Amino acid sequence: MKNNNIFEKIIKKTIPSDIVYQDEILTAFKDIKPIAPTHILIIPNIFISCANEINKENCYILGHMFYISTIVAKKEKIDQDGYRIIINCNKNGGQEINYLHMHLLGGKKLGKMC
Ligand code: 5GP
Repeated sequence: MKNNNIFEKIIKKTIPSDIVYQDEILTAFKDIKPIAPTHILIIPNIFISCANEINKENCYILGHMFYISTIVAKKEKIDQDGYRIIINCNKNGGQEINYLHMHLLGGKKLGKMC
């Protein structure tokens, strides 16, 4: 799994990226290799490595990530036709970047889950 440096740099804006939304809790930006017409990654501003690290103290961040994903879906005009939200975890889940992230996918009819 690749390390988290890239996503930390995107949050701090020390490397260029296409940020579509940012607040004090999270950052949402376009995936560099989109697999759908709309492919946005939503990440917490504090480092959480993967879904296994969600706990009682930080789980409010996940609620905010889900809420903002719906705001971004509306902004990207994919809300009416629909979209998919995915969080990959570790090897079998297909997680490549060691930094918790939510995929927001839409803009076309998506295929089966796996
Ligand atoms: P995973 O497979 O870990 O769930 O997804 C990682 C995602 O991060 C992939 O869709 C990949 O294209 C995206 N990604 C990897 N490096 C970068 C980067 O430097 N910038 C952006 N915007 N996305 C990246």
